[in-house]
Amino acid sequence: MTITDFPTTTSGIRSAVRGRQALRAAHAQLSEAARFLGLDEGLRHMLATPRRSLTVSVPVRREDGRMEVVQGYRVQHNLTRGPARGGIRFHPDTDMAEVTALAMGMTWKCALAGIPYGGAQAGVAVDPRAFTRRELERVTRRYTSEIHPLIGPDRDVPAPDVGTDERTTAWITDTYGVGATGGESRAAGAARGIMIAALAALGRLDGRTVAVQGFGKVGSTLATMLAEAGCRVVALSDTTGAIHADRLDVADVQPWAAAGGGLRGYPRADAITQDELLGLDVDVLVPAALEGALTEGNASRVRARLIVEAANGPTTPEADQILAGRGVTIVPDILANAGGVITAHLERLRDSQVCPWSAHEVEVRLRETVEGAFREVSALAAARGLTLRQAAYAVGVGRVADAHRARGLCP
Ligand code: NAD
Repeated sequence: MTITDFPTTTSGIRSAVRGRQALRAAHAQLSEAARFLGLDEGLRHMLATPRRSLTVSVPVRREDGRMEVVQGYRVQHNLTRGPARGGIRFHPDTDMAEVTALAMGMTWKCALAGIPYGGAQAGVAVDPRAFTRRELERVTRRYTSEIHPLIGPDRDVPAPDVGTDERTTAWITDTYGVGATGGESRAAGAARGIMIAALAALGRLDGRTVAVQGFGKVGSTLATMLAEAGCRVVALSDTTGAIHADRLDVADVQPWAAAGGGLRGYPRADAITQDELLGLDVDVLVPAALEGALTEGNASRVRARLIVEAANGPTTPEADQILAGRGVTIVPDILANAGGVITAHLERLRDSQVCPWSAHEVEVRLRETVEGAFREVSALAAARGLTLRQAAYAVGVGRVADAHRARGLCP
C-alpha cells in the first residue's frame, strides 16, 4: 500500500497563490472597514483572527485500491453573533488561507443580512471530476468524521459550495446523524438574491445584456433566472470554455452542457476566450466562478457598467481600485450572494415551526432582506462617499464589532 500526499502536486503550488491572495484581500477589506469605523487595533486583530481552524488528513481508498491522503480544512471565523454557517468546497487548489478568507467573508455577510450566524468555511483539496461518486462519498464521510467535534445542527452546518452539491451535504448529514434536509437549494437561494441585488442596482432587468463567468450551480441557475426575467444573456463560461451569441437560449444551453460535461463546443454560439468574456460591452458582468477573476491585469479591459459578484472574492483589491476609478459599480459578494444563507435561515425558522411560512412567503422575506441591506449600503455609500463594497464591509464589520462590545470582549 502506498500513501501519496496530494498537496505535492503542481495544483498545490497554484493553491498557495490563490489562497494567499484571497486572504490578503480579506484582510485588506477588514482593515479598511476598521479604519472607517475607528476600531482599536485589539478589536481589529480579534476580527482578523479565526476562532477555530482545523486541518485534517483524509485517507481515501481509490477504486483501483491505491490509498491517497487529501487535506481537509474547517474554519469557524467568528461565533459572536451566533452559530457558524458556511460552505464546503471540493477543489484541488483549496487550502487553509482560502478557507479562512471565505469564512471571514461569511461572517460579514451574515451580519450585513442581519441573520444570527457567524462565518465558517470548509474545504477539501480534492478534484471532484477526478473522483468517482463512491470515492467522493468516502472522502466526504471520512472528512466529516474528522471535523465532527466542530459541527452540529446548532453549532455549525456545512452547505454546498464549489465542487459540492446537495448530495455532499446529505452524506454529511447522514454521517453526523442529524441536520437540515429539504428546502430550496442554497445555490437557488443565492441566485434569487443576486437577481434582487441586480434589480436594485439597475432599476429594471428587462432587455439588459449580461455575461456570466462560471456556469455551475449558482451561475447556471442565475443565467436561467436572468433570461426568464427578460435579460439578454450574451455570454457564458466554465472551465471548458466560453461561448457568445446575440442572445443565448439558456434553457437550451443548460441541458447541453450538463450532458456533455461543459460549455465547450456548444453549437448554437461562437467560441470566445475567457478573457474576451470579461471584456464584453455588456450592461452587467457576473463573475460566478472563483476568487481572483478580476485582477490588475484585466480590470482595465472590463467594459461592463455594473459587476454583480455572484462568486465570493472575484475582484482583487487592485482590480477594485481600477474599476472604481473607471466608474464601474460593483455590487460586492457579501451583499450580492447572501441569498443562499438568508434562504437557509428562513427555511430553518419555517421548519422548526417558529414561523409557518409558505415557499412564497420565504421568497418575499428574502426579497425584503436583500433590498433592505442594499438600501442601507447604498445610503451609507452615498452619504460618506464610499463604494458599495466599502459601505457593505463597514456595516457588516460594524455589527460584528458591536456584538463583541456587547459581550464585553473589548472596550
Ligand atoms: P460550482 O462548482 O457549482 O461551479 C463553479 C463554476 O465555475 C463551474 O462551472 C466551473 O467550471 C466554473 N469555473 C471555475 N473556474 C473558472 C474559470 N477560471 N473561468 C470560467 N469558469 C470557471 O460552484 P458554485 O456553487 O456555483 O459557486 C460559484 C461561486 O459562488 C463560488 O465563489 C461560491 O463560493 C459562490 N457561492 C456559492 C453558493 C452556493 O450555494 N453554491 C452560495 C453563495 C456563493
